Amino acid sequence: ASAQHPLAVRTTCAYCGVGCGVLAKPDGRGGAAISGDAEHPANFGRLCSKGSALGETLGLGTRLLHPMQRGVDGAMARTTWDDALARVANGFADIIAKHGPDSVAFYLSGQLLTEDYYVANKLMKGFIGSANVDTNSRLCMASSVAGHRRAFGSDTVPGSYADLDEADLIVLVGSNAAWCHPVLYQRMLANKRARDAKIVVIDPRRTASVEDDDLHLPVAPGMDTALFSGLLVHLADTLALDYTYLAAHTTGFTEALVRAREIAPDLTAVAAATGVGAADIARFFALFRGTDKVVTCYSQGVNQSAQGTDKVNAIINCHLATGRIGRPGMGPFSLTGQPNAMGGREVGGLANQLAAHMDFTPEAIDRVGRFWRAPNMAQREGLKAVQLFDAIGRGEIKALWIMATNPAVSLPRADYVRDALRKLDLLVISENVISNDTVAAGAHVLLPAAAWGEKDGTVTNSERRISRQRAFLPLPGEARPDWWAVSQVARRMGFGDAFAYRSAADIFREHAALSAFENDGARDFDIGALATLSDDAFNALDPTQWPAHAGEPLADSRFFAAGGYYTPDRKARLIAPERPALHEAPSPAFPLLLNTGRIRDQWHTMTRSGLSPRLGAHLPEPFVELHPDDAAQHGLRDGGCARITTRYGACILKVAISAGQKRGALFAPIHWSGETAATARVGALVAPITDPFSGQPEAKATPAAIAPV
Ligand code: SF4
Repeated sequence: ASAQHPLAVRTTCAYCGVGCGVLAKPDGRGGAAISGDAEHPANFGRLCSKGSALGETLGLGTRLLHPMQRGVDGAMARTTWDDALARVANGFADIIAKHGPDSVAFYLSGQLLTEDYYVANKLMKGFIGSANVDTNSRLCMASSVAGHRRAFGSDTVPGSYADLDEADLIVLVGSNAAWCHPVLYQRMLANKRARDAKIVVIDPRRTASVEDDDLHLPVAPGMDTALFSGLLVHLADTLALDYTYLAAHTTGFTEALVRAREIAPDLTAVAAATGVGAADIARFFALFRGTDKVVTCYSQGVNQSAQGTDKVNAIINCHLATGRIGRPGMGPFSLTGQPNAMGGREVGGLANQLAAHMDFTPEAIDRVGRFWRAPNMAQREGLKAVQLFDAIGRGEIKALWIMATNPAVSLPRADYVRDALRKLDLLVISENVISNDTVAAGAHVLLPAAAWGEKDGTVTNSERRISRQRAFLPLPGEARPDWWAVSQVARRMGFGDAFAYRSAADIFREHAALSAFENDGARDFDIGALATLSDDAFNALDPTQWPAHAGEPLADSRFFAAGGYYTPDRKARLIAPERPALHEAPSPAFPLLLNTGRIRDQWHTMTRSGLSPRLGAHLPEPFVELHPDDAAQHGLRDGGCARITTRYGACILKVAISAGQKRGALFAPIHWSGETAATARVGALVAPITDPFSGQPEAKATPAAIAPV
C-alpha cells in the first residue's frame, strides 16, 4: 500500500516503456479506481489516457478463465490444468525426442513480467537445450540492443529520465513521444516551459510531437543515417569534438568519420539524401553543436528498419564524439515500446542473448550452466522472431508455446504467420483473452494466464528502473501466473528440482543472484544487492534503478561519464555505418511507402485497451493517412475507403487526408485485427525484411499501392 493512500496498492502501468507508477484501489466488485503514483520517479503522479483508463479494462467478459484443449474431433473443449499441462509436457518431450531440441520454440512478449520471462528462458536454454526463445520485443527495440552492444559492449542505456529535465536540447528521432510515451513527453514539455529547452523532431510525419517543437526535420524514410553522418562531419569540421574523451574512452573514430564523409560530405549532400531543406539542417547542426546538454531520444522510427542498428550507431557516434554521454542532461536514449521490453532483455528473452546480458560465449554458457545446474545448455543463438516463424512455415519447428502476444496480427507478413501456425503439431497459447487471431489460427492447448491487476512480479522501464507490478485482484476462474504454468510443465518434463518456485519473489532472487554470479564488474547488468531480499522486502520493493551492486547502497546512476565501457579494452566503439538505402524502393506497381505505428489511445492488438469506450472514442476506426496530393493522384476522398496492397497482402482502410504526411508516404495504425475489423490487419502488408545485426523487421517502408474501393 502507499503511505499516502493506505487503501491503494502501488503497481506499474501495463502499457508502455515509460513504466508509470499506478495506485489501484479495488472496489470489491472486481474493479478498481486508478490514479497516478506521486511517489514513483517515472511519472510523479501523472498518467496518460491509456494509464488512467486501466480501471475500465478489468472486466472478465473477454477472459479465458479455464484451460482448453483440442479434442480428436477438432473442437476446443474445457479441460483441467493437470490434463493441459500433461499434454504440453508430453507433447514437447515427444517432439524433442523425435526431432531434437531445435524443433521446439517459445515466443514471448514484452507484456510478461521478468519472472515469467526468466523461467521460460531457463527452461528452453538450460534444460530443453535450444535457444529458440524469442519475443515480440524483437519488433520493438532489438536494433537498440544491437546498437548498444556494438558501441558499448553491452546493452546499456546510459542515462535516466532525469536527464530530460536537465537537457537544453532534446532531439526526438523516429519517435512520436506525444502519443507513444505521453508522460515522458509531458516531462520534456515541462522542461521546455521552465527552462526554455529546445525540442527538435526528426520524423517523416508531422505528428502530435511536432506541435510543440522548435524545429521539425521531415527526413525521408530510411535516411536518418545520412542526417547523423552529416552531423558528425559538421561537428568535426567546426572543431566541436571532444578529442580528450575520444582519445581516452573510444576507438573507431577515424573509420566512422571517413564513412560519414562518404555518406554525407556536406550540407548539400545531406539535404539531397534527406529531402530536408539545407537551412533547417544547418539550424539543427548549429543547435547540437552549440548545446552541451543534449539528449537524443529514439524509438521505432529508428529501430524498425532494415538498417536500424546502423541508425542507432550513427546517433551514438555523435554523442561519443562530443563526450555528451553519461553526464546530467545528455546522452543517447532509447525509448522502449513495451512495459517490460527491458526486463525481457535482462533475463535473456532474446534468442541471441543467454541470460543477465550474457552472450553465447563458451565462458558464459559454462557459467550459466553451473549456476542453473542445467543438464542441457543451448550452445548457440536461436532463431530471431521473423526467422523463427519462417522455420515454422518450413515445418522445421513443430511445437510452439506463445505467451501474451498475438503474432498473427503483429508480425510482418501476418497472413503467412497465421498459415504457418496451422502447420504446427503442437501450438500452446497462454492468454488472457478467450479469442484473438493467433488463437483462431488453431491452438491445441489454451492456458488461462493471470492479467494485469492479478499477477505479481517486476518490470523494468526505459531508464533501467525495476518496479513492482502487484496483484490487487484475486485470480479469476482458473487463471494462473505464466511462471507457474512454465514451472509446472518443466516439472512434468523431469526438471522439477530446478523449477520448485513458490512465488515470484523466489524467481526474482534467483535472477538477481545470476546477474551477480562471477560478475567482477565486466558485465553491466548486476542487481546482486536484490538477491537476498526477504519476501516482505520484495513485496515492499521501491522502484529501483540498476545496477544495484551487493554491499552498496541503492542509488540512481548513469553509465560511462568516465568511460568504463564493457568491451575488452573498456573503450566504446564508434561504428562506420553502411550507406543508407531503402531495402526495397517504390516501383510503378507499388509507388508509395507504407509506414505503420501506434495511435494515442490504443495498445497493440486492442485486447485490453479496446475494452475502454473512452479510449475507443479517440480514433474509432482503422484508417490510412496520406498527403492531399497523393489522394488526388489516386482518386481518393477523405472518409472514403481504399484498398492498400503490397507484395505480401492487402487490406481496406478508411482514407484520412493529412498535409502532415510526406508525399509518397502512407501511415496506417497497427492495432486492428481480424477480431476487430476483418479487413484491417495491417501486419499482413508489412515486408519480412530484417536488419542484419538485430533481426528487427522493417515496418516503416514497405512499397505499397493504393486505390479507391
Ligand atoms: Fe502507462 Fe505509458 Fe501512459 Fe505511463 S505513459 S500511463 S506507462 S501508457
